Amino acid sequence: MNEGFEIRSYGAAMTVTGSCHLLDTGTARVLVDCGAFQGSRDLFALNRDPFGFDVASIDAVLLTHAHLDHVGRMPVLVKRGYEGPIHCRPATRMLAEHLLLDAAKLQNEDAERAKRRGKQADPPLFDENDVRATLSLMRPIEYGTPFEAAGLTVTAFVAGHVPGSAGFLVEVGGRRVVFSGDIGNERKDVMPDPAPCPPADTVLIESTYGDRDHRDFEATIDEFAEVFKEAARRKGKILIPSFALERTQDVLFHIARLEDQERIPVMPVYVDSPLASRVETVYAACMDELSDDVRAVAASGRDPFAPRRLTYTKTVDDSKRINASDEPAVVIAGSGMMTGGRILHHLRAHLDDSHTTVMIVGFQPTGGLGRQLVDGAARVRIMGEDIPVNARVVTINGLSAHADRTELLRWSEPAGPSASFRMVHGEPTSLRALADQVAARGQGAAVQPSEIALPEHGRKDEGGE
Ligand SMILES: [Zn+2]
Repeated sequence: MNEGFEIRSYGAAMTVTGSCHLLDTGTARVLVDCGAFQGSRDLFALNRDPFGFDVASIDAVLLTHAHLDHVGRMPVLVKRGYEGPIHCRPATRMLAEHLLLDAAKLQNEDAERAKRRGKQADPPLFDENDVRATLSLMRPIEYGTPFEAAGLTVTAFVAGHVPGSAGFLVEVGGRRVVFSGDIGNERKDVMPDPAPCPPADTVLIESTYGDRDHRDFEATIDEFAEVFKEAARRKGKILIPSFALERTQDVLFHIARLEDQERIPVMPVYVDSPLASRVETVYAACMDELSDDVRAVAASGRDPFAPRRLTYTKTVDDSKRINASDEPAVVIAGSGMMTGGRILHHLRAHLDDSHTTVMIVGFQPTGGLGRQLVDGAARVRIMGEDIPVNARVVTINGLSAHADRTELLRWSEPAGPSASFRMVHGEPTSLRALADQVAARGQGAAVQPSEIALPEHGRKDEGGE
């Protein structure tokens, strides 16, 4: 501990999910995030393992944002005895409530289903009571206003990734330690730009896209508009598998804006996701977390996330009705990676129809249904059925909620010439590539080692967004 502190990573080191970093000064122990491992089965299994640190020794928790790969094991931490404060933005608490309750419900349904089929089932990782106990420990923080955690001074800054997302500057003696959290991109749409990295001695930086740049944003939106025009000509459905948090609201915002600009025809738009409709209420309540563009639309009296013919489906019967109809319409449903959820029913019913368009707007892991569609599979299996793929499948790259390589380098430079960086939250190739570029401009850079053993093939699987 020759710097006066140690940082150990128990997740999101050499991989993108399971974010969990421990800052240990010898007298104070602060945990930054406690996220779920996602992606492959082997990675998911890590969620049941011991954390690798003593839960009773943790004095305070800083939570960067409400994505499950950052908050998803927080109820497990509380279930295993953590009773201290969890510092986060109010928007993060509101979103975490919906996401964690939904996760608890899905785990319970999975366990019940397995039981009915007489299969051996893992018990749920946590239940609604654990979620409620976790929410009760959350303490609201302001951006830019220092607060105290475990006797250390902490300041949150805007990360621009999802509503409530924050990075943290922690002062340890005379040294300044930054935890980036997930850093948003600088394109002009739903989220504001991230605040630049504060001057620091040590920076733990996310590296999801440390080795590549995103597609040009204007070209992405042009392509998005083209898909709508072509689908309207085909008189078929546009099916959009989407994450309930962030990607769904982004897609709705772009549809509404393109309709306003009369660049696409007005079509019925169904959001077939109860979770997404709950997330939408948080966006409406947290306008101060969103970009100037979004606020300008809201100030003019319109809902920035409401295309003209928007409907949130409420019941399973509503969902079935849309599914059974051949009306040209846009259907946005989860899960974003097509690993479950209502999107599977829509795909099963319409993939064989050449009028249908499947618009893929998020990352699809190797081996999954989404990846098979991206790769041009002629037939796929959905819920035990063999389905021919006659639909048009279009992948829209460039809607990521993360900074790309150029933006990560620009974000990190203000840390200063004596800053030393530790790369986390990335696949090994991305971590290494970003470390090399940061080192090339004269700052210290190293890939942060993991304190826990990761499944070998799990490293190639991505689940975090
Ligand atoms: Zn995230």
